[in-house]
Amino acid sequence: MKDTADGGARAGSRGSNLEDLRRQNLGAVLSLVHANRSITRAEITHATGLNRSTVATIVAELESLELVTVSQPVDTKRVGRPSTIVGPSERHIAVALNPDTDAITIGVVAMGGRVLREFRFDMEQSPSATQTVSTLKALLRGLELSHRGSVLGIGIAVPGLVGARDGIVRVAPHLDWRDEPLVEMVVTATGIPAWAANDATCGVVAEGQFGEGAGEENVVYLNGGSGGIGGGAIVGGQLLTGQGGFSGELGHTLVNSDGLRCHCGAVGCLETEVNRNDLLAAVGLETATNAQLEDRLRTLYLTDPNVTAVVDRQLEFLGIALRNFVNTFNPGIVVLGGFLASVRNATGGALQEAVEHSALPGPASEVRIVSSTLEDNLLIGAGELVFQAVLRDPTSVAVHDQSNERRPEPLAAG
Ligand SMILES: [Zn+2]
Repeated sequence: MKDTADGGARAGSRGSNLEDLRRQNLGAVLSLVHANRSITRAEITHATGLNRSTVATIVAELESLELVTVSQPVDTKRVGRPSTIVGPSERHIAVALNPDTDAITIGVVAMGGRVLREFRFDMEQSPSATQTVSTLKALLRGLELSHRGSVLGIGIAVPGLVGARDGIVRVAPHLDWRDEPLVEMVVTATGIPAWAANDATCGVVAEGQFGEGAGEENVVYLNGGSGGIGGGAIVGGQLLTGQGGFSGELGHTLVNSDGLRCHCGAVGCLETEVNRNDLLAAVGLETATNAQLEDRLRTLYLTDPNVTAVVDRQLEFLGIALRNFVNTFNPGIVVLGGFLASVRNATGGALQEAVEHSALPGPASEVRIVSSTLEDNLLIGAGELVFQAVLRDPTSVAVHDQSNERRPEPLAAG
């Protein structure tokens, strides 16, 4: 991805004074380090077109802000002077929060899309917004004692529709939430800045930055969870957000006009026709991880007639949806996550073939259908919501640190 998760342009990009230019250069170099996780100073020089001494100055400033770490290469056999290696620091972190029907998951995410720690709180019933916030607050207190870094912000991946401007969860059907001012609740309870987005949006951001879609300009991501199917698209290097941030509800595209009624009120949505529970029932499992489901599908698809019929039916509807997405977005890559990856992996090239035979010749010839290999992509994507502001203006972390000093117990507020 080239640009920011909120679709905004990089601050100061048109600035004419030196201070704007400095921030812009700091942001450009930090973005490279963030995206590559590890990069040499020579590679930064090559990628930015800045001269070597300018890059050295910028890297030194990012190091003094504790945003990057600098190390010497181990391999000294290469010809020429070895170039210093620059990587993201773990000093400034994002806290990622993902409430779902059966658990609240909280991650500590460092720049470079690395989940340093992950905490899962299993829930008997799907959590309320208030429960979610109090769980977060309790964990942050413990985290403050164990992590010596600063929390830049809280990124929230919500299985529902989230307003981009106000952070209000309009509806999260599987959590039974409606009009929950989640971002405001989190900020009030913790005193820490927060951002929220649809969970699949977080997924596509992570896939585009660090996963199978890295380096791709046009990506469609489709994730199959126990609650349904979510998705998102990166078009021309930019996350497609739509007018209010609600873009990417790919699970609610029509694939079967004779289909079942969806919880959204429509009939024959992709997520009612292609669903995990039907697959589990067909292979005789009550609960299973996606890996277990995939194992069972690999064994039974094309050998057990009942399983084959159920899978073929789901492949047919998934193929219809993919055809529509490929014709609409002309992606270079379609990344499937969750149980959709299990179905793809267990059925060979069936989906790729279906798309090649049904989509229009131009877009059909250019697309690869792949499975996600990025673990924790929702947490990584939620972290990205936080890091975008720092990538725009790396000097903002200095202000953040000062405000923490003025407020000795930031996590106890509210
Ligand atoms: Zn629907």
